[in-house]
Amino acid sequence: MKIIGHLINGTLVSESSTSGNSRVQEVTNPSTNQVTAKVSLAAKATVEEAIAAAEAAFPAWRNLATAKRVRIMYRLRDLLQENAAKICELITLEHGKVLGDAMGELQRGIENIEYVCSTPEMLKGEHSKNVGPSIDSWSEFQPLGVCAGITPFNFPAMVPLWMWPMAIACGNTFVLKPSERTPSSALLIAELGIEAGIPAGVLNVVNGGKEAVDTLLTDKRIQAVSFVGSTPIAEYVYTTGTAHGKRVQAFGGAKNHAIVMPDADLDNAAAALMGAAYGSCGERCMAISVAVAVGNDTADTLIEKLKVQIAELRVGDGMDGRSDMGPLVTPQHLEKVESYIAAGINEGAELAVDGRNHKVSGYEKGNYLGACLFDRVTPEMSIHSGEIFGPVLCIMRVETMQEAMDIIDAHEYGNGTCLFTRDGEAARYFSDNIKVGMVGINVPLPVPVAHHSFGGWKRSLFGDLHAYGPDSVRFYTKRKTITQRWPASGVREGIQFSFPSNQ
Ligand code: NAD
Repeated sequence: MKIIGHLINGTLVSESSTSGNSRVQEVTNPSTNQVTAKVSLAAKATVEEAIAAAEAAFPAWRNLATAKRVRIMYRLRDLLQENAAKICELITLEHGKVLGDAMGELQRGIENIEYVCSTPEMLKGEHSKNVGPSIDSWSEFQPLGVCAGITPFNFPAMVPLWMWPMAIACGNTFVLKPSERTPSSALLIAELGIEAGIPAGVLNVVNGGKEAVDTLLTDKRIQAVSFVGSTPIAEYVYTTGTAHGKRVQAFGGAKNHAIVMPDADLDNAAAALMGAAYGSCGERCMAISVAVAVGNDTADTLIEKLKVQIAELRVGDGMDGRSDMGPLVTPQHLEKVESYIAAGINEGAELAVDGRNHKVSGYEKGNYLGACLFDRVTPEMSIHSGEIFGPVLCIMRVETMQEAMDIIDAHEYGNGTCLFTRDGEAARYFSDNIKVGMVGINVPLPVPVAHHSFGGWKRSLFGDLHAYGPDSVRFYTKRKTITQRWPASGVREGIQFSFPSNQ
């Protein structure tokens, strides 16, 4: 049985060789529930070893020319493209998403690396000449030191690529702790980073669970933590990390609503909702899980169109090129999603399409659930308040756009949202006023491209700066402002007790 270990100081190591313990967790294929590998669960001592390697590598790395750091990123980009098939197969075999979706995820990660290649431009700083007599002043952006990343199961390749390429291009060193449920692709990508030329210790990967995370959150040598995962853990990571003096950005869960206006192109809206609700089996933080239809006619027509398309949805093994939607990640998660469905029925929602008991021939033991569609969902129902994270789309019915916006604004999450309409005035009002971090107009998954930054509002993000793009340069650097005087030779300043100004 393959044991997935850690990457510490440029070398792949097993847990038993580092801490002497051999704690492991099984990694399974969601399509069959067969165990494909065992992943090491790092003890505190192992994580400390990775932090020590990162700390030792920092002084030389921070002083390396930015252009040389970035040249490694260009090589990494090429290596990721050359190895894309292998990486995506690992994603699909551990996560369950279909191969085409895994390719999309990896491509988004590669686009982050392409943006990272512009860090010499980003780190240029700001300069002012003659801010006073013979005085010049400038701001520069210095690396923080050792940074850490803790990532979720659902984008095992892309989310780590939101973090460490920018962190290390800015001159930091890094310890990544991927999800123990989907660990292989992040580790392979890190190995490709070493092949591309990242020096030993600059990038380290430790696999594990809570003990590994807690070590990263409390160790004095860690300067900053980027986290992506569920809201309760995001809040815990934020409060614990900041209480230990770290800079923390912690991205949490979501409940993303689309508003469908009566004037919308409903064929287009239905097609967009199919992908946004059921793509990746609904296991995306930007998935649309609620469609709020304005007017009963809109709701009725939308549901009819969705029913036709759901009937054609091909649910099956992610490695099978004919599948549109794969299995959920684990049997426990399937059980959780099914318990939400049962609660929805009990609370009075109408299950217009029931995807339960979906069997895929040849994969009877997989975590399969067909697409589910609820109608007449109301705000207080648990299928509306909770993040289901499965292939369950809820339809709500309202009379006006304002009513729909009030439902969205009252929700604890504020990650993404979308409006389907042909009305520019409504679109402008919506995007200007809705209390959500990422907004789409006729775009169901408004995930910002790599040269913008990603982040939700409310309890979808703890911290200030968003992920990747320009915000990530600021997150992984600290500003230093230097004020320097070189008076002409022979000129001497007298003593000055009042606060210096240009008056
Ligand atoms: P999760 O919170 O269970 O796990 C995320 C990470 O935290 C993992 O590395 C895990 O090992 C660690 N962890 C789990 N429990 C912990 C604990 N008690 N103490 C310390 N560390 C712990 O999340 P998940 O199930 O892997 O991912 C799905 C969640 O992530 C969803 O809620 C989804 O919305 C969210 N997500 C958010 C974004 C975003 O950008 N906002 C992106 C992707 C996923």
